[in-house]
Amino acid sequence: MRCITVRFSSTKPGKIMTINVHGYATNSATSELVPYAFARRDPRPGDVAIDILYCGVCHSDIHSARNEWGGTQYPFVPGHEIVGRVAAAGKNVTKFKTGDLVGVGCLVDSCRRCPACDEGLEQYCDNGFTATYGSEDKIGGTPHTMTFGGYSDKITVEERFVLRVPGNLDPAAAAPLLCAGITTYSPLKHWKVQPGQKVGIVGLGGLGHMGVKLAHAMGAHVVMITSSPEKGQDATRLGADEVLLSKDIDAMTAAQNSFDFLLNTIPVGHDVDPYMALLKRDATMVVVGAVEPLTRASGVPFIFRRRSMAGSLIGGLPETQEMLDFCGEHGITCDIEMIDIKEVNKAYDRTVKGDVKYRFVIDMASLKA
Ligand code: ZN
Ligand code: ZN
Repeated sequence: MRCITVRFSSTKPGKIMTINVHGYATNSATSELVPYAFARRDPRPGDVAIDILYCGVCHSDIHSARNEWGGTQYPFVPGHEIVGRVAAAGKNVTKFKTGDLVGVGCLVDSCRRCPACDEGLEQYCDNGFTATYGSEDKIGGTPHTMTFGGYSDKITVEERFVLRVPGNLDPAAAAPLLCAGITTYSPLKHWKVQPGQKVGIVGLGGLGHMGVKLAHAMGAHVVMITSSPEKGQDATRLGADEVLLSKDIDAMTAAQNSFDFLLNTIPVGHDVDPYMALLKRDATMVVVGAVEPLTRASGVPFIFRRRSMAGSLIGGLPETQEMLDFCGEHGITCDIEMIDIKEVNKAYDRTVKGDVKYRFVIDMASLKA
């Protein structure tokens, strides 16, 4: 396989890209991921340089690599579920030191001065956050440089966007917490899921399996809502108290008006009416999986019983740290299948088919093998 080498340079002092990085990139929407060598910026005084140990394979990586959402620039290095160790910390860094186990999720920068950033909700930055991959790199790059993600052996990130990973968690299985974990934790917290509430998790994949574990740990009565009896069985193992089969019309009818909260993780467009009808008066269903059009959302379930439907995007840095600490306290990680980076293209095909329980994680040591 061809290995492309790119060197970035900048005329501005202090912005020199001299950290040599090995990773995997794709060069077009239809190409496979191949070895790719590039450079990252030297740590500035507020930066943390990280040796990447593991990186999860998120479905968003695949959508972006294949340009299914549009706008992908190539070469493209995916990966935003990163766990590694601090290799060096700049002199202004206060929270981290060399050797610390750390994580980087979906964000590596934001404006830091808008109301959202002020509240630690960097994911809703009014001026647009910098995604870990595929965004214009406003810090270290020359103007045309895009951010490169975690399918690589090193990354340089400003301290604000680096997270502590609890030492009691398996670092590989903790990696997907940085996206799948916070995507499900944030709405459960924002809508104040509490012990004793009946909470439905709709769909069992990378997101849904984390939703089950987290809602269970928060003390909710968790109901897995799925079309697949096999997935229902597995959800019970993960912590679900009940299974509701969405194709069982009688069971769905009997469960109407009974849920305090629904977390909908279905990754594609779908009819929402059958799920909205499950909510109690004033309850909310939050959509975190589908960015495609949602169909059959009639006014009836909203108007009768004053129900709501909402969406939610990952989480800000403070809440992501809170989620990691919560997972540390409760011993929660993702169910993963570890792969060598050479297997990543096969892993993409299996992820698209839903053939993974429940997240592939790349062992970055395999880059050197
Ligand atoms: Zn993701
Ligand atoms: Zn902002």
